Amino acid sequence: MEFEAVIGLEVHAQLKTDSKIFCACSTAFGRQANSNTCPVCTGMPGVLPVLNRKVVDFALKAALATGSTVRRESIFARKNYFYPDLPKGYQISQYELPIAEGGFVEIDTKGGRKRINLTRIHMEEDAGKLLHEAEFEQSHFSLVDFNRTAVPLLEIVSEPEIRSPEEGGAYLRMLRDILVYLDICDGNMEEGSFRCDANVSVRPRGQSAFGTKTELKNMNSFRNVEKALEYEIGRQIGAIEEGGQVIQETRLWDVAAEKTVSMRTKEEAHDYRYFPDPDLVPLEIDEGWIEKIRESIPELPLAKRDRFQREYNIPAYDSEVLCQSRALADFFEAAVAVHGNAKAISNLLMTEVLRELNKDRVDITETKLTPSHIAGIVKATDEGVISGKIGKEIFQIVYQTGDDPVKIIEEKGLRQVSDEAAIEKIAQKVIDAHPGEATTYREGKKGVLGFFVGQVMRETKGKANPALVNEILKRLLEP
Ligand SMILES: [Zn+2]
Repeated sequence: MEFEAVIGLEVHAQLKTDSKIFCACSTAFGRQANSNTCPVCTGMPGVLPVLNRKVVDFALKAALATGSTVRRESIFARKNYFYPDLPKGYQISQYELPIAEGGFVEIDTKGGRKRINLTRIHMEEDAGKLLHEAEFEQSHFSLVDFNRTAVPLLEIVSEPEIRSPEEGGAYLRMLRDILVYLDICDGNMEEGSFRCDANVSVRPRGQSAFGTKTELKNMNSFRNVEKALEYEIGRQIGAIEEGGQVIQETRLWDVAAEKTVSMRTKEEAHDYRYFPDPDLVPLEIDEGWIEKIRESIPELPLAKRDRFQREYNIPAYDSEVLCQSRALADFFEAAVAVHGNAKAISNLLMTEVLRELNKDRVDITETKLTPSHIAGIVKATDEGVISGKIGKEIFQIVYQTGDDPVKIIEEKGLRQVSDEAAIEKIAQKVIDAHPGEATTYREGKKGVLGFFVGQVMRETKGKANPALVNEILKRLLEP
């Protein structure tokens, strides 16, 4: 029997506001434990929460960027449960009337573009953090840090329309890119500001009823989400094929063992006794507020990718890489405005530039590079002033010093040698020094030409014009 996977993803995105969702405490990361706290976020008796308007702005941005319908009236609800990192004994979330419903995220799959519909987007507060003395099982005590308590989150829930781990990964990357473009979340999965849980089930292909699902947690990278989904789909199919069944439960991804392990049987919504929070009035959003936010939405990643392909005639792969960061995409456009060879500029950005950025773990705006630097290197190469190889060397100097490439070319004497007589002299010397290889070439093994080109380039320290070297060598080697 052939099976099909049914996957729905729940993302928790930490919002980049300066203060928490219901009090004025800072959201700054890395402060001393429990220093970002006040009576409100630690749940002292008699305090009242006040909604942070910025959180609503950010939620509206996410809703509008995904084509969701904004509810004119939404309600905060209490989700009741006990855990030491939750001082109030309930989390303020949204349940029956979330801020937005519907909408979609589009992804590119092997089978073309696919739309993954969204169920809902809602606002909620984060819980605190427990720090165990050692590995949980060995710990005699745990400490609690409330700095993260009540940091604003957006929960974004997809419909169960994802059919493979690859689609799941593509959906998450696209959603992350959208939130980062909107500048409302830093999208860092490893640091926990973009978290994902997955609901997974399998069913015989062609069947419309859903199978029993499990919920996967603890996947802290895009790669781990894909691996966990792959493993869990295989595990469920295996259980069914062996005559067993899938149990509804929550499972944890064990990164080291590369498998999912059972954590607890899945709780149902009624276990939380959701009810409207009596301390917060219903949130009303008028048309003016929505319009103001709509005007602030920038061009989104997928639209930018499509435009880059169309406008600059670069491959889909290039536009995807360049548009992963809004800053890099802007940099590319600014460089192309200076020198129009878009493909060559894209090549330099995707290889040399990204390699350095990844190595130094910085964004392009944090370097000494400017769009004119990159345009200048490509222009000098296009005009035959330098070879591509020298272009890469110049890039390294520019990256380290921020100096102008044209200045570097002149100062270091890197101008390409296009003097025919000079090259011919060196080429003849190289041929004379390798009579065996010259004979081989003349006997018809044309591949040997590469060897001679290499020798001439070495003699000229890479500065000879390669096209000219090829031409001259061919002429001199003719029998
Ligand atoms: Zn507070």
